[in-house]
Amino acid sequence: MIVLASVISDFDIFFSKYAKDENHRNLITHSVFPSIIIFVLGIIFYWPALIISGFSYFIHVFIDLFDWGTNFFYFPKKTFGPRLFMSKEEEEKLPQYLDQYKNPTSFFDFKYYNSKVALTIEALLFILMMFFIIFFAFEYILIVIIYFLGLYFHLSRHFHLKKIENN
Ligand SMILES: [Zn+2]
Repeated sequence: MIVLASVISDFDIFFSKYAKDENHRNLITHSVFPSIIIFVLGIIFYWPALIISGFSYFIHVFIDLFDWGTNFFYFPKKTFGPRLFMSKEEEEKLPQYLDQYKNPTSFFDFKYYNSKVALTIEALLFILMMFFIIFFAFEYILIVIIYFLGLYFHLSRHFHLKKIENN
């Protein structure tokens, strides 16, 4: 349940069309509020796993602040966060940059897969994840299936986008 809480907010991608700029991170599911609600419910029902789930949900949204940012406080309708993958110039003229691609998602996708830093962090986190599961929670080893499903989704999208842009 705790692991599920850490990934569930990204399923809002299916509701992208309702989001500002069709960016799923502008939805309320990528703001700070759901984690507060989960945390408070965990306290009310005195359910430790739910309290920790509130934290794992929060960590996801918090980490998302650092690559592209999210609509963290929701109501100001403004993308928030250090957005380390983007230069100031790209941030200010983002629509122009997105227009260079047939599919705007390509801008984010290619930046990520062309970044050695991003790929190194990805590999390190994978090793860490395997280490912690194998040594501390081996009975939950099947949970890595979720990781590989996510990896498959992202890689297939990456090659799909590459094909579109190269045509
Ligand atoms: Zn996310």
